Amino acid sequence: MSESIFTKIIDRKIPAKIAYEDDKYIAIHDINPQAPVHVLVIPKRHIASLNDLQPGDSELVGGMFLVAKKLMAELGRSDYRTVFNCGLEAGQTVFHIHLHVLAGRPFGWPPG
Ligand code: AMP
Repeated sequence: MSESIFTKIIDRKIPAKIAYEDDKYIAIHDINPQAPVHVLVIPKRHIASLNDLQPGDSELVGGMFLVAKKLMAELGRSDYRTVFNCGLEAGQTVFHIHLHVLAGRPFGWPPG
């Protein structure tokens, strides 16, 4: 399988605006932001989609929300929307799981 675009960013093969990084995660500013703040929290280990999660991945996925919380606190945001798209019909375009974290405008419900 070819490398995902996020693996290329993690490996510094292509540039991105990095908001956070540690040994397990990288967070980047979305290249096509859908809100004034739009960050993607990405585990460094490649998992294609939520459908590929295994029971042992629960801590890794839970940690994505802790990264989101930390980042939003640093950016002074208490209100934000988190989204995982899973599968083409749900709007997933990059098959390396990532948590969208959006802030800075009101969000409607139901989502489009
Ligand atoms: P999804 O459609 O849920 O798979 O989300 C993929 C997201 O990755 C989209 O919001 C894209 O705008 C974003 N994206 C794609 N390529 C890049 C990139 N090189 N740097 C930052 N964000 C990207």
